[in-house]
Amino acid sequence: MPRPVLLIFTDLDGTLLDHETYSHEAAAPALEALRGAGVPVILASSKTAAEIAPLRADLGLAAHPAIVENGAGILEPGAEAPRTGSRYRALRTALDQVPAPLRQRFRGFGDGGAHWIADATGLAPEAAALAAQRLYSEPGIWSGSEAEKTEFLAALRAQGVSGREGGRFLTLSFGASKAGQMAEIAARYSTPYMVALGDAPNDREMLEQADQGFIIANPHRAPMPPLDGEETGRIQRIAAAGPKGWNQAVLRVIADFGI
Ligand SMILES: [Mg+2]
Repeated sequence: MPRPVLLIFTDLDGTLLDHETYSHEAAAPALEALRGAGVPVILASSKTAAEIAPLRADLGLAAHPAIVENGAGILEPGAEAPRTGSRYRALRTALDQVPAPLRQRFRGFGDGGAHWIADATGLAPEAAALAAQRLYSEPGIWSGSEAEKTEFLAALRAQGVSGREGGRFLTLSFGASKAGQMAEIAARYSTPYMVALGDAPNDREMLEQADQGFIIANPHRAPMPPLDGEETGRIQRIAAAGPKGWNQAVLRVIADFGI
C-alpha cells in the first residue's frame, strides 16, 4: 500500500460517534478532507467485527482494516465480517478445559446467548445479536470469589489466555492489544505519522502510542486521568464532545500538515 502522509486511529462511541445519537455527522467536514487527501482512518473499538463492518462501510472506510474487540483482533478490509473464526473457537475450547467448579462461575457471551447478552449489556436484541458474533475475545460475568477468580485466570493463563477487567465484564482473549494492532496496521502503510483520538481509559494505550493524541471530551463520564505526553503537548484535550470535537481536532491536524 502507498505510504499516506498521515494515519488516523479513532475510537467510536463518544469519540467519532455521538454518545447519545451515534451520529458522526458533525465530523463530516474533517472526514471529507481526509478522504480527499487519501488519509486512511482506522476504526478501533471494543465492538465486534459484525458491529463495525456496516458502520465502516457507511463511513466509506471499507478499504481499510479496523481494530475490533478492544484490540483482540483486526477486521480486514471488505464489505462483511466473517461469521465465525478459529481463534474464538480455540478460546472457547480453552475455557472448557478449566476445572468445572471454576468454569461454572464464569458466564460468557457464548454461554448466555443473545437474550442474556441483551439483559447484561442493555443492548437492543438486534444489537446484542451482533455483539454475540465474536471472533477473538469472550466477555463474561464472574460470579465466584476473588480467590476463585485468581485460580480461574491461572488455569487459563497456562493455555495462553489472559483476562482483562473493565466495568461489569471480565474479557478473555489470547492477549493481543490495541497498541500491538496499531503497530501492525501502521506497518502495512509503511508507518507514517500517527494520530489517535479517544474519550475513555480504554483508549489510553492507543493515545500514548500515537505521534499525536487527542482526548475528546465526554461529559457523560469522569474526565480521563492525566496521560503520559500531556505535559509536552503530544497529547491534547479537546473541549468539544464527540464528533464535534473530533472534527475540530482533525481539522487542526490537517491545517498543521498543510493538506
Ligand atoms: Mg469511547
